[in-house]
Amino acid sequence: MGAVAAKQEQGSQKNVIISRNPATGAILGEVPEQSVDEVRAAVARARDAQRQWSALPVRERAHRIGALRDVIVRRADEICEAISREGGKTRGEALTMEVMLVADLATYFGKRAHKILAPEPIPLHLLKNRGSYLHFVPRGVVGIIAPWNFPFSIPMGEAVMALLAGNGVVVKPSEMTPLIARKAKELYDASGLPADLFQVVTGRGPTGAALIDAGIDYCIFTGSTATGKRVAAACGERLIPCTVELGGKAPAIVCADADLDRTARALAWGAFANSGQVCVSVERVYAHESVYEELTRKVVEATSRLRQGDPARGETDVGAMTWDRQMEIVEERVQQAVGAGAKVLTGGARLGGDGLFFAPTVLGDCRQDMDVMRKEIFGPVMPIMKVRDEEEAVRLANDSHLGLMAYVFTKDTQKGRRIAERIEAGSVMVNDCLLTYGAPETPWGGVKQSGLGRTHGPQGLRDLCEVRHVNYDRLALRRELWWYPYSDKLYGRMLKAIRWIFR
Ligand code: NAD
Repeated sequence: MGAVAAKQEQGSQKNVIISRNPATGAILGEVPEQSVDEVRAAVARARDAQRQWSALPVRERAHRIGALRDVIVRRADEICEAISREGGKTRGEALTMEVMLVADLATYFGKRAHKILAPEPIPLHLLKNRGSYLHFVPRGVVGIIAPWNFPFSIPMGEAVMALLAGNGVVVKPSEMTPLIARKAKELYDASGLPADLFQVVTGRGPTGAALIDAGIDYCIFTGSTATGKRVAAACGERLIPCTVELGGKAPAIVCADADLDRTARALAWGAFANSGQVCVSVERVYAHESVYEELTRKVVEATSRLRQGDPARGETDVGAMTWDRQMEIVEERVQQAVGAGAKVLTGGARLGGDGLFFAPTVLGDCRQDMDVMRKEIFGPVMPIMKVRDEEEAVRLANDSHLGLMAYVFTKDTQKGRRIAERIEAGSVMVNDCLLTYGAPETPWGGVKQSGLGRTHGPQGLRDLCEVRHVNYDRLALRRELWWYPYSDKLYGRMLKAIRWIFR
């Protein structure tokens, strides 16, 4: 359950994906599992449309994408309802973490893309008679393979950037949340942008694999580390450049001098927003021994106040999980931790009924060797471990195969920054959580097995283009010193020149 089941479509041999509401189990609709040929046809259509699109000036593309942004803002409520219904997150989270994020990203890059993608001169330090510059050419068709935890903002944030950069786009959404992707296509079509330029193909893993094999020019994959490795290998075989945004295990270091009230509230939000199904959710807390007891008490208090239930209600803080298999993983992690000596301070189990609700859970007395501290949980569970000092906290934070995001809590911002710089993660926030995916100007991506490449930021936009180099003559000489014919005299002059240059 959670969203998916397979059945034979009546009267045909085609598999379909049935989508369900994870809060109630009710069937919402179904989509086809599209064939290799259908995926190829979608890429071909996007490529045809992309030729004209890429010829438009960047400002014109930005203007037209502004119309998509306007449709998204106008129909925000309807989008939030769709996200909440199929994904299980609260309506408020759908608005702030998905709709607002795409609208802001489209606005931010819409205003700046023409500058970011303008040709960039390269001053040559030696060859003063020549000029060089970079120019940015759209790659062609970008394939976007997306997960279920942010079913609107991933892929639509990436799609907006790829379109701005002059590409066509084919999205393969998660099989858990295909209807939201369909809604995105409906909004796109309502914006007046060229219909074939943006396509959605539905299916499971094989449909994603088919997309990589369908002649795309760039792949943005967001999902688990295990699948990301397969995707990167498939792209490597075809020499398709890719960005892979993978799993996280974000540590939060709580220093002795942290503001514990703010920290407890931040950690509760960072661990339980979207039912903990955020790649940068707070997944392990290292608390200085001098504040461990008080912090734990405050975190439990903050957690106990959370209202869990119907994600469509405005007063709900924590909604449903999206996928039943993910909830089983969360249960396994909690049981393993408790078996190994962790204490359930609040929560600890799924709620009864048809919906996929797991109670926001705080675990105390955790140790680094527990699965809950080492493997991604991806659910509403906050394990807390006591550490002797900040040195130990940094060492344990770095003792992970993942490195997407980390958090440091201290009243001393300078100290927070010093600690942040020592943590092996793509981004580190001091005294806050989760937020920077929503800051389009900052780079997004991980180190270690959390991924390769960056989305967002100027680099994220430029990566969606081929960076090409032109070198031209500013001052035409009759011949260059190092051309034929070679001679002892030429050698002597070159030697003198080299000694003078590197004197
Ligand atoms: P997943 O890897 O199971 O699936 C992701 C997508 O890949 C789905 O659309 C799936 O159908 C497709 N897929 C599966 N096999 C494929 C194959 N062989 N070739 C091509 N595509 C294939 O991940 P998920 O469960 O949907 O997402 C949860 C994971 O995503 C978590 O680990 C989370 O941390 C990670 N995530 C990372 C970020 C980030 O920015 N780094 C953001 C969100 C989620």
